[in-house]
Amino acid sequence: MKLHWQILVAIGLGIKRNWHIFLALIGGIVVGLLFPFQHGDSTPFHDTLYFVGQAFIRLIQMIVLPLVVSAIIVGIASLGDSRQLGKIGAKMVGYYALITIIAVTIGLSLALIFAPGKGVKQKIDVQQSAIVQDKVEIIKENTSNLPALILNMIPGSPLVDEDSKQKGMETTMVQVLIAVIIFGAAFASIGDVNRPVVSFFESVFAATMKVTDWIMVIATPGIFSLTAYAVAKAGLGTIKELWLYASVILLGLAIQFFVTYPLVIKLFSKIKFTSLYSAITEAMMVAFGTASSSATLPVTIACCERRAGISSKICSFVLPLGATMNMDGTALFQSVGVIFIAQAYDISLSPLLIVLIGLFAIIASSTSAGIPSAGVITMALILQGSLKLSFEEVAQAYVLVFAFDRIIDMFRTLVNVTSDAVVAAVIASNENELDQELLENNEVWKEVV
Ligand code: ASP
Repeated sequence: MKLHWQILVAIGLGIKRNWHIFLALIGGIVVGLLFPFQHGDSTPFHDTLYFVGQAFIRLIQMIVLPLVVSAIIVGIASLGDSRQLGKIGAKMVGYYALITIIAVTIGLSLALIFAPGKGVKQKIDVQQSAIVQDKVEIIKENTSNLPALILNMIPGSPLVDEDSKQKGMETTMVQVLIAVIIFGAAFASIGDVNRPVVSFFESVFAATMKVTDWIMVIATPGIFSLTAYAVAKAGLGTIKELWLYASVILLGLAIQFFVTYPLVIKLFSKIKFTSLYSAITEAMMVAFGTASSSATLPVTIACCERRAGISSKICSFVLPLGATMNMDGTALFQSVGVIFIAQAYDISLSPLLIVLIGLFAIIASSTSAGIPSAGVITMALILQGSLKLSFEEVAQAYVLVFAFDRIIDMFRTLVNVTSDAVVAAVIASNENELDQELLENNEVWKEVV
């Protein structure tokens, strides 16, 4: 059977296990299309969808921070000595970098071949730039220079006062990750005195996974509402004009999903990729519905541990980092998006400039948080850094890409989450940390959602 059919069958089996989530997604899309926003405004029906969707996503967001902190401390402590941590860490960075470079290459090539941005600017009503007004401050922050961005990744004092908040110095997830990794490594290196702390975080981790199970009881209405609201808000209007742009991104994401990952799995591990795809189908569906890798993290961990047979050591280290830093779907989207904007602005693209865009996309994507729309905001960094657009031009360019970004975001988040699980599985297979029997015996798989 052809590769993509095998994958679709595997995912079909995963969906059969949890068809209600799939129905919620499809139902959400249909309802969103049937009942779009009226003249750009929501109705009481949409407000209800918004309420249910936000209630669900807020509950999951509540557990992300304790989950990430406890998972990484326990993960690093159980890796034992620092050499082991260094080895797994290096492999993780290597695989994440490899798939991101492939994603960027695919994105750039497709955008250059299909030229989705040619002639687009004339069609777009520049007055619409009001759409981006509310995002102006965020865009401004993200167009600041690279050293400032890197400085902002270095964790400082966890106490944040109002003054620092105004200067944009709120603690970010990347800072949390870096601080937790440093402390985790310290706990791992102090020997047995770390027991009380590690046991404490083991309990926190177990409790957060329990809370995840509870929250997942409302996953079906939550995902339905999120999807219906997103589709109703985006509407079909702009998609008609930008269909080529959207198709190029979706084609690129499909190549990454159906070709790159199976190849990486085949080349670097002994895993059956169809079993892995089937094991993580629920995580894919939640990623699509929430458009947030971080919010999906509890489900990704549950799928990888309870079904894919990846040891908790690997899951708790590789997956939280992946959910925050490994954004290959986002990198692919940004590569297409920037070339699209360059074409719309008639900027000539030299080979050097194309490589520069690719490099910026790798950096900008990995600094994107695992939350909705993060990738479209950090794209400002690439637009300024490589195309040298002024702030006003960036804001105008955004009119082209903001309109239905949420829909594209759902697809790229699905890809981001899948790649986190693929890399975790490959590393687990290399390190003998994978229960192959569990992965291939779906009859004994435990409930996840
Ligand atoms: N929503 C994406 C994620 O959470 C990030 C992005 O906006 O591209 O993975």
